[in-house]
Amino acid sequence: MDCIFCKIANKEIPSELIYEDDNVVAFNDLSPQAPIHFLVIPKKHYESLNDIDSQVVFGQIFSTIPKIAEKLNIKEYRTVVNTGKSAGQTVFHLHVHVMSGRNFTWPAG
Ligand code: 5GP
Ligand code: ZN
Repeated sequence: MDCIFCKIANKEIPSELIYEDDNVVAFNDLSPQAPIHFLVIPKKHYESLNDIDSQVVFGQIFSTIPKIAEKLNIKEYRTVVNTGKSAGQTVFHLHVHVMSGRNFTWPAG
């Protein structure tokens, strides 16, 4: 399968991972929208949130975020999951955006 995030997760594409465990990896976004902007993804391919087959997946992803935040010394951040084209999803491997280091407006654009 030609999926850029699978390639990052299985290290076919070398990239600097900021977190890795058996199920999840995190890495900086190529096109950061904030001073800190990283993505947390499951190693297993799910096209989007609509495809998850277990609530464990999201627990694994979200429970890593405070650990990474602590490592980066951030306490406040925006988390975003875009699901589907109209919601802004451009890479169809489930990922959570984590952004920090500036003020964010609400509602999101
Ligand atoms: P989406 O728009 O699907 O919610 O988010 C996809 C994100 O992946 C975008 O913020 C985009 O900058 C990032 N991205 C796309 N391709 C790559 C890549 O090859 N490497 C990294 N690190 N980020 C990528
Ligand atoms: Zn994938």
